[in-house]
Amino acid sequence: MATAETLPLNAEAFRNDFPILSTVLHGDQPLAYLDNAATTQRPRQVIDKVVEVYERHYANVHRGIHWLSDQSTDLFEEAREKVRQFINAGSAPEVIFTTGCTMAINLVARSWGDANVRAGDEIIITEMEHHSNSVPWHQLAERTGAVVRHVPITEEGLLDLDAFDAMVSERTRLVAITAVSNVLGTINPVQEIVRRAHDAGAVALVDAAQSVPHEKTDVQAIDADFVAFSGHKMMGPSGVGVLYGRLALLEAMPPFLGGGSMIRRVTLDGFEPADPPAKFEAGTPPIVPAIGLGAAIDYLNKIGLDKIHEYERFLTTQAHAVLEEVGGVRFLGPAPEKKAGIVSFTLDGIHAHDVAQILDRHGVAIRAGHHCAMPLHKRLGIAASNRASFYFYNTPGEVETFAEAVRATKRIFRRR
Ligand code: PLP
Repeated sequence: MATAETLPLNAEAFRNDFPILSTVLHGDQPLAYLDNAATTQRPRQVIDKVVEVYERHYANVHRGIHWLSDQSTDLFEEAREKVRQFINAGSAPEVIFTTGCTMAINLVARSWGDANVRAGDEIIITEMEHHSNSVPWHQLAERTGAVVRHVPITEEGLLDLDAFDAMVSERTRLVAITAVSNVLGTINPVQEIVRRAHDAGAVALVDAAQSVPHEKTDVQAIDADFVAFSGHKMMGPSGVGVLYGRLALLEAMPPFLGGGSMIRRVTLDGFEPADPPAKFEAGTPPIVPAIGLGAAIDYLNKIGLDKIHEYERFLTTQAHAVLEEVGGVRFLGPAPEKKAGIVSFTLDGIHAHDVAQILDRHGVAIRAGHHCAMPLHKRLGIAASNRASFYFYNTPGEVETFAEAVRATKRIFRRR
């Protein structure tokens, strides 16, 4: 575990690349952006790439037999190849560009789900899922008569794997789990869960929205059938996400959206779908966001995901320590060594929205609310919480500022 003396990276060295991080708000408060689990900021390299494409290379892809269209298509397919390498997918057609993680999961629910799930089948998710990885399965259950079951969490905020084992059976058609909880920060043993799902003959989907941007991901090692994530949580433009799917499954699945690009042939009587990935990329895809995501991947590769992961764990440990000194803080989720760069908490007797509002006066941006995880908050016995979440460009100094702002919040409420 890194210490202040052995940090794996120097955040200050990157901050100049991010114009927005030098923002000063409310007159004289430097921005401390600690809402990275919601979305991250973009470095100049990504912004410049987006501008460059619009200024010099932009046309629709896979359509025109003209010079610009060729350029645009090459850049778009290069981005797909960068994603493929980044997650170690076996082949480029296994990488499907969607509009985001939510769309990727809905694609699986509509396409694979409608074709394969029947009344009485069981879909196993967990109590810690983001609504993106629960609502599509409830919708699928409504359409098919399947049943959604939830792996409970322990008091510590970990998945109860014994309960999971007791739940998996020959009725299980799908296990869909998050790699990292967007509230608790818990890092789940996805590889092990996927193995157990496969042993039971079930298909496995991993919601990797909070893991792919922060730690090395090898989809072949995880061995999941589907992995979904969003570009905007890893410095890419908003409007692009990825569905990784095992090729044999993608080939067998019917297309979800119909339109241009996803067909081999259309007649007056019907259509024949194209092969993956085109089969699942109906209409004009997120061309420039995908190319921007490729630039974000280049940036991440230069730093190294291992260093990023290690550094964020240092910030998490530091945040726990300084908040403990403040006192009156209830942490949600496990101890720092078992979680990613996400620190959620409640402050004794002070509403989460009040905390976030006062922190904002200090320039500190954190999230307040249920973080799209209402069932989890119900399980924890609270309606809302606060969440600070880190990326490699955050500094130990910002964590100190954050703790000072929490201390100030307590002072204000003590006076009332
Ligand atoms: N899954 C998890 C764990 C998330 O944290 C999020 C976003 O916060 C999503 C899914 C949905 O991502 P998006 O809104 O980019 O589709």
